[in-house]
Amino acid sequence: AQDRFETVILGAGAAGLMCAAYAGANGGRVLVIDHAKAAGEKIRISGGGRCNFTNMYAAPANFLSANPHFAKSALARYTQWDFVDLVARHGIAYHEKTLGQLFCDDTAKDIIRMLLDEMAKVGAELRLHTSVTEVAKADTGFTLTLSNGQTVKAQNVVVATGGKSIPKMGATGFGYQIAEQFDHAITETRPALVPLTFGDTFKPLAGVATPTRASCNGTAFDEALLFTHRGLSGPAILQISSFWREGDAILLNLFPDSDPYETLRQRRAEAGRKSIATVLAEMLPNRLASFTSDRLALTGNLADYSDAKLQDIARELTAWQLTPAGSEGYRTAEVTLGGVDTAGLNSKTMESKSVPGLYFIGEVVDVTGWLGGYNFQWAWSSGVAAGTAIASA
Ligand code: FAD
Repeated sequence: AQDRFETVILGAGAAGLMCAAYAGANGGRVLVIDHAKAAGEKIRISGGGRCNFTNMYAAPANFLSANPHFAKSALARYTQWDFVDLVARHGIAYHEKTLGQLFCDDTAKDIIRMLLDEMAKVGAELRLHTSVTEVAKADTGFTLTLSNGQTVKAQNVVVATGGKSIPKMGATGFGYQIAEQFDHAITETRPALVPLTFGDTFKPLAGVATPTRASCNGTAFDEALLFTHRGLSGPAILQISSFWREGDAILLNLFPDSDPYETLRQRRAEAGRKSIATVLAEMLPNRLASFTSDRLALTGNLADYSDAKLQDIARELTAWQLTPAGSEGYRTAEVTLGGVDTAGLNSKTMESKSVPGLYFIGEVVDVTGWLGGYNFQWAWSSGVAAGTAIASA
């Protein structure tokens, strides 16, 4: 038996579920297909289980893409405040954690439940444990072959299969494959929002966290830095990883809010007979202070240090240059940078310019947000853009 749908959405993640709730608004039959055992698995584990579902300050400048203008239209027509409204209408309690990041008070499952409720309101159907093996253009619309051998017909196909991050959770490159099949270009894809590796260098510091300004290739982020057994992580590093390329150095300023030269000079005036190591331990977490003393071969008392020497030390503390060996890759990356080239898509509707009825939304598209709720906002905004276009066609 052949099933007929107005719209089939591939992927029951953030973008796919949101799109379904809008695409079905005109009564058209909508089916969401996912090979996973549950919908919204990445939503469930996001934000440490509380889902950082958007950011109060979300703006086009918080997104990377070969075309920085592409995301503007969708983000403007479905904003963070539209999503906050939806969350509030569903009675889900939330709070700002830091830097405009909005999290559920309780659990990320509230967001999944909300999206499934919205889908149910328009009668959209969900089929889990199902993969699509083929998408073919038919006389009108598309014919999809499912893993169980069944075929379904659809006027519209929305590709919402996400990126390559965390293959253990069901990420596949299927969306890119469909894009290529229909002659859509793909920009270079790479792991982003990912820890950077440094061999064993920072093993003695594993677990130490400190505020920092991390910069690379002209972009800087003031957030926490975390040393790990494998290298560097924490929000500052995850953010900067999106701007880093193999072989590039990153710069760390361990004193983003003060001038360590002034502090060292002042301490020398007050307590010149203290060892420099002791004074550094007043300024930095203990293990980082002793690591720094070893790194810069600092011995003796503060009084032994001239202004010029203190300036050298301050420079090492505020412009610590490091070249990562690599990144932890898709195994731990929160997102995939790059994807379906936006040049082939309509920015108002996410529809393919060359294949009417084919849409790409969410992370599979070459639009990648910063850390902090921006990636979900792109999933919501692009999902609504496609869903609205389908419902009003
Ligand atoms: P996904 O949510 O990944 O959904 C894609 C769906 O497609 C999945 O359900 C998958 O099973 C399905 N699929 C894939 N291939 C196939 C196939 N061949 N056949 C059938 N189905 C398929 N972003 C934030 O904004 N805030 C956060 O707090 C946050 N935390 C994160 C924490 C972690 C650990 C990770 C990994 C990511 C986090 N992100 C966060 C990023 C965010 O999860 C993604 O950007 C977002 O989920 C992308 O939405 P999407 O719908 O495009 O893709």
